[in-house]
Amino acid sequence: LHDKFEAEHALEPETLDGEKISLLLNAGLNLSTEQVSANYCDGVGLYRTESWFMQKGQFPTQSEQEKWYREVLSRYHPGPVVMRTLDIGGDKVLDYFDIKEENPFLGWRGIRVSLDHPEIFLDQIKAMIKANVGLGNLRIMLPMVSRTEEVDEALQLIEQAYFELQDDWADPFLLMDKPEIGVMLEVPSSVYLLSDWADKVDFCSVGSNDLTQYLLAVDRNNSRVAELFDPYHPSVLRVLNHIAITCQEVELSFSLCGELGGEPEGAILLVAMGYRRLSMNISALNKVKWVLRRLRVEDMEMLLNECLAQSSVKQVHRLLRSFMIEHD
Ligand code: PEP
Ligand code: MG
Repeated sequence: LHDKFEAEHALEPETLDGEKISLLLNAGLNLSTEQVSANYCDGVGLYRTESWFMQKGQFPTQSEQEKWYREVLSRYHPGPVVMRTLDIGGDKVLDYFDIKEENPFLGWRGIRVSLDHPEIFLDQIKAMIKANVGLGNLRIMLPMVSRTEEVDEALQLIEQAYFELQDDWADPFLLMDKPEIGVMLEVPSSVYLLSDWADKVDFCSVGSNDLTQYLLAVDRNNSRVAELFDPYHPSVLRVLNHIAITCQEVELSFSLCGELGGEPEGAILLVAMGYRRLSMNISALNKVKWVLRRLRVEDMEMLLNECLAQSSVKQVHRLLRSFMIEHD
């Protein structure tokens, strides 16, 4: 039963010592329940556009996409909606777009597909920008970037989409907003280019699911190695901490949208690192808020420092367990 968590659903997400934390929703799968939750979150931190593409029999047209995106943007307005461009490949396949590879997680995925098919990418970007007219709560996020060239090319295509739309637009007095553009940090190489990208993009969001998978070389969906897939591995924690430090140094807005942010222990460590925006599945929102409202940042920081000092993943889990028991 989640009654005690639900009882506080309308309260502000903040720590016991008053530090405000933005809790956002990971959306894209179940719209009816997501709609209910719209009141209780600060917006959508990850909208997985490919979920909708996966339910279709063919690529939706630009105007179908525009209609759909407008519905999503309106639903959460005035809260921000971070729409991620198509992230297919890996475990996410479209019946009507054949990708057969021996090693799909290291293959043609995310932004790589979009840049090889600019017509698909441009359609999607144009549909998003048009859907945003009069609303203004759209943000666009690029998945699986691993090289600076990908960021540059994608930004160039977004500019192109914007100018082509301005040219075509029937009513020249209707101004289209240029949305904020961000990148996902989910390939380890992106972490070490972050400060180089700070002037190019407006925000970044950590995809801890893929980042864990690629950092530890453990398939996120393979039950045989499921025990090794562990975002509390000291290396993962140290990388997440490094991202927070770097982003604060270069003044780049940062958040996290992997499953880790929806786990109480994960949220605690992330807040201690300096993350103030966490995006999670609807089922995690109330519980994470409940936990954060009962803790001081100072106590979370003490736990974090102990965890960061460990070299053993088991020891990290021991520390987390005793912290949770102590603060129950
Ligand atoms: C992630 O990789 O952490 C992420 C949020 O994206 P997805 O789970 O859709 O790959
Ligand atoms: Mg991912």
